[in-house]
Amino acid sequence: MGTVLIENIGTVASGDLAEPILNADSLFLAEGVIQEMNTHSHADLKIDACGSAVMPGLIDAHHHPYFGDFHPVVNAVGYTDRYMESGVTGLVSCGPYALPGHPLGPQAGVALGILSAQSFAKVRPSGIKVYGECMIVEPGMNEADFSRAAAGGVKRIKFLLPVPTAEMARNCVGWAHNHGMKVLTHCGGRKLVGEAKSIGEALQIIRPDVAAHLNGGPTPPYWEDAAWLLDETPCAADIVFGGNLGIAVKIVEKLMGQGRLDRLMLGTDSPTPGGMMAGGVAKFMAFLASTSDLGPEQAVCLATGVTARTHGLNTGVVKVGMPADLLIVSAKEGTPARDALEEIKDGNPPAVGAVIVDGELLHPPAHYPSGRYVGRSNPKQRPVIQRR
Ligand SMILES: [Zn+2]
Repeated sequence: MGTVLIENIGTVASGDLAEPILNADSLFLAEGVIQEMNTHSHADLKIDACGSAVMPGLIDAHHHPYFGDFHPVVNAVGYTDRYMESGVTGLVSCGPYALPGHPLGPQAGVALGILSAQSFAKVRPSGIKVYGECMIVEPGMNEADFSRAAAGGVKRIKFLLPVPTAEMARNCVGWAHNHGMKVLTHCGGRKLVGEAKSIGEALQIIRPDVAAHLNGGPTPPYWEDAAWLLDETPCAADIVFGGNLGIAVKIVEKLMGQGRLDRLMLGTDSPTPGGMMAGGVAKFMAFLASTSDLGPEQAVCLATGVTARTHGLNTGVVKVGMPADLLIVSAKEGTPARDALEEIKDGNPPAVGAVIVDGELLHPPAHYPSGRYVGRSNPKQRPVIQRR
């Protein structure tokens, strides 16, 4: 693995809410890791950022992956290339439900959870890190099922299908925690506990660690149910571009009021009836920053570092010692913005000039068809890449 020097950086958006902007004009990468800042060491690959910003690769906090880079729900082939080119370097699975024929029942649920965890531990479609370790709770599961899942690599469970009783829901939560797994719930549109009187009562029974697509996917929960989770429990939440965008803004404003943006992650809920939203996380950052008081550097954190910390992923921040999962981003040609952060605040996703995962330049590739991006995403400052 070669070394990389990125120099002439305009701004570093760190992905860390505690210090979202770093004072660094260069980064040195080796062994796939950020080794030094503000250095000019010799490297195998030199990238002149020409004043562009550097930020962590985006993480889609709410995704439903299939295997490899095919998705049968929307018959999408090769969609992960579009994700990667849009700056997404991580996809968090919120449940593998898309197997054709949708096998149901405890055994199938455990098998699919383990399959997803172990497949994506070895395969990176288009170079993207897919965190596939999620299992959907099936009615009738017992603690032995949870134990087998955890031993097979499952780290999250998701309530998506209704379970019949409050007792079973509470048991599943307890078993998950006993085996070190986080509890996610689908929010909105569906009562997840059969004997609960309402969708909201079911959420109160489960009390998830992560309220998944709290702005709906696609149907939003009642606002009082979403507010209850944020006011009365310590849960983290993800909000998705495929959900209700008005409620997403209310959730951002509520958590800003609490001073607790560290509870909020951005995702897409792909695939949705709208398809695979390859650029959805970047669009969502820009939408939220342009329609609320959210700072663009904070929006970056919700799409990177907060998600990594919440789900225990070793990525998501620009910091010495961390894996070099990075983007070089700028304003787009033809807009008034001067840099990537201004572009986000203006409501536009930044132009992605380069994508780096584990210190390797994935995009642009060495032989890139010229003009490919014309009219779509031309960076105002295009990085100059020198391979030795
Ligand atoms: Zn979902």
